Amino acid sequence: MTKRVFIRTLGCQMNDRDSEALVGIFLDKGYILTEDINQADVILVNTCSVRKHAEDRAISFLGSIRKVIESRSPKNNSLLPIVGLIGCMARSRGEEIFKKMPHVNLICSSAMLYKVPEYAEKILKGYKERIIDLEDSKREEWFYHSHFRFDKNHAYVVISTGCSNYCSYCVVPYVRGELRLRDPQDIIEEVKRNISLGIKKITLLGQNVNDYHYLYGDNYSGVRIFAGEETKNKNIFSFIDLLKELDKIDGIEEIDFITSHPKNTSRDLFYLMANSEKIKKHLHLPFQSGSDRILKLMNRGYTKEKYISLVEDFKMIVKGTLSTDVIVGFPTETEEDFLHTKDILEKVKFKYAYIFKYSLRQNTEAAKLEDDVSKDEKERRHRILLELQKRLSLSI
Ligand code: SF4
Repeated sequence: MTKRVFIRTLGCQMNDRDSEALVGIFLDKGYILTEDINQADVILVNTCSVRKHAEDRAISFLGSIRKVIESRSPKNNSLLPIVGLIGCMARSRGEEIFKKMPHVNLICSSAMLYKVPEYAEKILKGYKERIIDLEDSKREEWFYHSHFRFDKNHAYVVISTGCSNYCSYCVVPYVRGELRLRDPQDIIEEVKRNISLGIKKITLLGQNVNDYHYLYGDNYSGVRIFAGEETKNKNIFSFIDLLKELDKIDGIEEIDFITSHPKNTSRDLFYLMANSEKIKKHLHLPFQSGSDRILKLMNRGYTKEKYISLVEDFKMIVKGTLSTDVIVGFPTETEEDFLHTKDILEKVKFKYAYIFKYSLRQNTEAAKLEDDVSKDEKERRHRILLELQKRLSLSI
């Protein structure tokens, strides 16, 4: 009988694309994608660990699956249906969830997602053990090969996985692993596959797209390129080189990318954006805080002045729109620090700003600091910025 797979995705576009690629592999193996969890043989929850709220939602959803299982008539294989916790939370909370939720029988890290169909088949064929794979290594390229797309008009293309920037509040390097780059040719081929499917709008995805410096002759594992080296080494293919190649491909109407880290966003990128007819004139440039002291504690690698100067150059060269991410209530944030953050919002006038209250993430450097801004104060600062941004957005 044809098997059915159900997937719930929480979190960002990176997770959406991961779920899409994974579903594509299941479909290529003959499964049907179902929206009815009661009918599913394989139930997957692709999770996000960036904020506590996202983890709480995943745990609540995983808990609710137990009732779905109990309402079904028992099957021969006691491990059916397969309930998989996959993605970020596998590494941050997987072992704890394995102990607390016996109905979760498959846990797989973000790096190893391409193995989920193989593990599911193994259990479906009668393997009686629960499976947990928390490894962090480079994904197999074929993970991205399926033609299945959730959106027939717009495709997300992953250019890198993981991150090695270690911003002090961020759990990504721990749960999604170190920065690993896909080969430029593989990315270009995936873009061409999308075009052959009639898709004309492409969004490139990386935790920080500017970190993309592919070193030919090496699989990049563990190789770090430091500022200034790019120009010296002729074997390096940068994010800008990648954009230039994609810009030449017939059939693409719009290219954009997320996310750009201010510490290594360059004027060269702005000139390319200005001169290309295909690259969208919009930049997502998270500043997180306007206080130099807090930016240092966050390990962000720039100051308020540098950020403002970068934005002025963007406005002058690209003449486009901006969006950003902001955190309020980072440990030790004072009213004065907060006012610097508010000042950046007022000065820059972002089209969109995603404003979050600081949420402590285990294992990060910031977790060693006392989370000393009260809940009420975080709420107040959050509300002030939301109201401000609402007014500013209307004026753009
Ligand atoms: S650049 Fe910083 S905030 Fe972004 S994913 Fe990497 S560590 Fe996290």
